[in-house]
Amino acid sequence: MRAAFYEGHETITTGLCSPVEPGPGQVRIRVSHCGICGTDLHIFHGKMDHRVKMPQIIGHEMSGTVESVGPDIGDWKAGDRVTVRPLDHCGNCPACKAGHSHICMNLKFIGIDSPGAMQALWTVPAHTLHRLPDHLSFEQSALIEPIAVACHDVRMGELQAGEQAVVLGGGPIGLLIGLVAKTSGAHVLISEVNSARIELAKKLGLDAVDPTSTDLVATVMERTDGAGCDVVFEVAGAQPTVDMMTKLPRTRGRIVMVAIHAQPKPVDLFRFFWRELRLIGARVYEPQDFERAIELAASGKMPLDPVISKIVPLEGLGDAFRELDGGGEVMKILVRCSE
Ligand SMILES: [Zn+2]
Ligand SMILES: [Zn+2]
Repeated sequence: MRAAFYEGHETITTGLCSPVEPGPGQVRIRVSHCGICGTDLHIFHGKMDHRVKMPQIIGHEMSGTVESVGPDIGDWKAGDRVTVRPLDHCGNCPACKAGHSHICMNLKFIGIDSPGAMQALWTVPAHTLHRLPDHLSFEQSALIEPIAVACHDVRMGELQAGEQAVVLGGGPIGLLIGLVAKTSGAHVLISEVNSARIELAKKLGLDAVDPTSTDLVATVMERTDGAGCDVVFEVAGAQPTVDMMTKLPRTRGRIVMVAIHAQPKPVDLFRFFWRELRLIGARVYEPQDFERAIELAASGKMPLDPVISKIVPLEGLGDAFRELDGGGEVMKILVRCSE
């Protein structure tokens, strides 16, 4: 069967490999589509070479059908339409014992620490599966994992219907947070500097402004009668958005840290004191976030098709990475994994 391999130094090859027989507690999935994530782009640039074993099959935002099953897998059977929550936890560490297995201290992320979905047949633990409704397309289903990220962020931020949210950063995760928040009844404003991303946000029905040409603080205060917004999502991971995030919330407002800040950055801590703000970390997702993501996608209330910029064959993966590097015009690219 065919697979795409990361070989290091921004090199992707496609070739043949042998399907892995599903062992106890495992299923093998015929992968339909797999989205390219920011993390995959990081791997492509060699920033995670300490974690991946080259040649590595990557990818974790997928949809597919159960093809065969090992012993002890519960109700799953061949033909079931599924997506995978790509987290493998240890079950024994303090985080797992506290009920936080999604941020297990020994967490293995499937598709980074072990082979991923960009292959025709993918063998994974059955405990990672979520069932897809029949009417949800495989293309849209490949967005469930990033939508689950957005659902987790919105839930951790305790965003309520009627509240005002501001999302700093209009990339795929920022836009999906906007869509989940709006569909959940909140008011949403996206702040993004890239004009193509602002256009896409508007196409999705989201309010979006460029903070370099619009006074974002004044806009938010205007919309909230001078109070400030209820929740800020920091998704961009840059110093200007870290500077902005403390200026926008109301008294006792919340800031959700979604971005991965690899380096420490200065933060205006005085604002936390002065307005009794709360800073909330949010990382990956829990099973209920996947269930919510599937429910929201299946409801048809979120315009997901415009988020998918293009669909390419496995052989097109390297070019797709280079196109995503260009930024702006493309949002989510899906790969067809079994054809
Ligand atoms: Zn992802
Ligand atoms: Zn653990």
